[in-house]
This record gives sequence, C-alpha cells and structure tokens, in this order.
Amino acid sequence: MKRILQTLFLPLILSVTHPANATVEFKLRQLSPDLHVLYGQGGNIAISVGEDGIYLVDDQFAKLSEEIRAQVSKLKPGVPEFVINTHYHGDHTGGNENFAKAGSHVIAHNNVYRRLKDKHGEGSKFLPVISFGQDMTLHFNGENAKIWHYENAHTDGDAVIFYERANVVHTGDIFFNLNSLPYVDVNSGGSLDGVIAAVADILEHIDDNTTVIPGHGPVTNKSGLLEYKALLERAKGIMLVAIDKHQSLDAVIAAEPLAELELSYSDWLPQQRVTKLFYHSLTSSPSSD
Ligand SMILES: [Zn+2]
Repeated sequence: MKRILQTLFLPLILSVTHPANATVEFKLRQLSPDLHVLYGQGGNIAISVGEDGIYLVDDQFAKLSEEIRAQVSKLKPGVPEFVINTHYHGDHTGGNENFAKAGSHVIAHNNVYRRLKDKHGEGSKFLPVISFGQDMTLHFNGENAKIWHYENAHTDGDAVIFYERANVVHTGDIFFNLNSLPYVDVNSGGSLDGVIAAVADILEHIDDNTTVIPGHGPVTNKSGLLEYKALLERAKGIMLVAIDKHQSLDAVIAAEPLAELELSYSDWLPQQRVTKLFYHSLTSSPSSD
C-alpha cells in the first residue's frame, strides 16, 4: 500500500498534444506500477500494462484510436489483449472496431452487447466477443480486476472495474466528477436511484486509499465519491419536493428547482436537461430525451 500511496502523491504526468487534431489533448497519469489513466476526449481510459500484456477500460472515439495506441505504446509496445467497456455509449466504445481489428478482445455486459448489436448489426467488430451477466474477473498482469455490473444506473449495462492489487476503481459514467450532476440515460435503462445505489455500493467496497477513476473528470478518491453521493441525494430530494409541488414536467422545469445548488453545467447537459431526465427517472415516466 505504501508503494501505491507514493505513486498516488507523486503522479507522473506525460502530456502530449495530438499533432493532427489540436483540439484533443491527451494526458497520461500513472496510478500504480501497472495502472495508468489516459484523459483525452470522451470517457477516461484505464490502461493496465504488465508482464502478461496490455488491457484497457474504454476506448473513446474511433477517430482517436491511433493516438490512443500511440499513448499506450509509450508504456509498452503491442496491441491491448482486452478492452473492457463500462457501458455502450459512443464516447466509451467508439474505438471498439479499430481495436478489435488490431486484435483486441472486447469485454462488456450482455446489455452492451445487445445495444451495440442493435446499433451496428450482428457480427460487427464493435460488439464484445466476451459478454457477461452479473460479474467476471480478469486475472491478468498479476492483477485481479473484478468487473461488476450495476443494474439500471447510468444505463442498463454498466460495469465497474475494481483493481484489487492496485486499489483502484474505474466507475464508468456512474460517476461524473465534474462538480455537477450526471447524465442519467433513462431511455437506455438508467435511473437516478440506480446511480445513487451503485455509488453507495462502490463506497462499501473501497477504502480511504482507493484511487477512483470516474467516467469523466479527474481521478479522485473515496471522499470525492462521498461528496458526489451527497450531491446526488440532495438533488434527488430537491426534485422530489418540486415534483410534489408542481406536478407536471413543464411546471417543474419552469420552477428551476436545481438552481439552488448553484452548479455549473456543460453545453450538452444544461440544467434544464438534467431536470427533465431526473423528473422522468423519479416519476418513472417515458422521456423524449
Ligand atoms: Zn455514458
């Protein structure tokens, strides 16, 4: 554990700007002797490198695959043996086809297989070649990476990866570490209650020394995840009061109940959209979003 703490507090940061695409800046950070996080565009990538080879968690967008491979090659040359998808969204699985063609084996939950099959068709290289139900464990690079499925959280196919030896967890988009509220994909089986339950369960399985890789935003620790859980619970409470008072979706949106949290929002996920998604999730009503 001391070794892990040292690497945590002395992060090795290698920063490279994509020569052909100045808008995407990749940043590689070491989390343990064998484990790195790669920030780019889209979901955060975890890279395990060791004596058995290489494997990734998530692969961002197809257009970035070449650069992602270049970043991985700086740690160890070769093709990743596996790519684990945390869920089916395109900013986490967009590179699946490119990596599969290079020789990687994609692993994901059964519902990710189903959704990617609906999107790309049977036999597509975007689809996982190994899919699982509740959990599986990857014994590779001297690590036991437990891949655990959480039902109806960010989507209906979420997987969280617990790296036992490195004491690191990759939460996928169950955790948006952006000091704001997350996207809950209610049209893909996601729910706010499911996200809160998943976060609570992850917290039960980590300790004060665990490094937490969120789906988006910087790497943090248990206290960062605790703060996020408190924010989610507060937002849920505010929404329930507003729904009780205003009833209809339009009236709740007009009342701007989440404004009191004084959060900042991204262009693609403004407060109004979060309000709408949370409303649909908490009232179990279908969403057009
Ligand atoms: Zn997502």
